[in-house]
Amino acid sequence: MGRGRKTVGIDVDGVLADSIRIWLQEAEQRFGIKADKEDIVKYDLPGLFNSIDYKDTIDLFRLAWKGHHRIGLEDPAIPSILDNLRDRFRICITTASDAETSEVRAWLKNNRIFYDELFHLPTPDDKHRLDSIDIYIDDHAEVIENVARSGRVGIMLRQPWNDDAITTMNHPRIVVAYNWREIEQLLLARFD
Ligand SMILES: [Mg+2]
Repeated sequence: MGRGRKTVGIDVDGVLADSIRIWLQEAEQRFGIKADKEDIVKYDLPGLFNSIDYKDTIDLFRLAWKGHHRIGLEDPAIPSILDNLRDRFRICITTASDAETSEVRAWLKNNRIFYDELFHLPTPDDKHRLDSIDIYIDDHAEVIENVARSGRVGIMLRQPWNDDAITTMNHPRIVVAYNWREIEQLLLARFD
């Protein structure tokens, strides 16, 4: 494409980090919410659990990230997949996580995820405005739609909370991946 390696922007919560599981543990402890990851069928958590509001949602994510050693990878193969991809792509972390930036950096390091740059943005809505990113990987359907509209490619990792959106998404620049091996194959096949 003329300007060398393409840049891939990769989200943290729900794409690299399985933080929702720790969020659910905290939510059970503090609010008595009993649910599994597969029950999170909406991105809007206060709309799903009426005992919490928007601020509680953020506080629970903050608590989850305070103890980030408990947060697992979305897929144990991620570090080796990203090692492979780094030969051919620039890897940028693009997150609007409620975590502190230092917590995200420490978690990435502990999980042996290496990257070229990290953007910790105020809101998910800031993501598609990053000019340096060619391809975004995210679990938030709205982000992926904005990315496609802004002329870039969005790869959406399937999660229970974006399952509904998959059926209505119909854009040549949106691709849905069901796991990280699919993400790897898509990137190597389509953008090499
Ligand atoms: Mg996310």
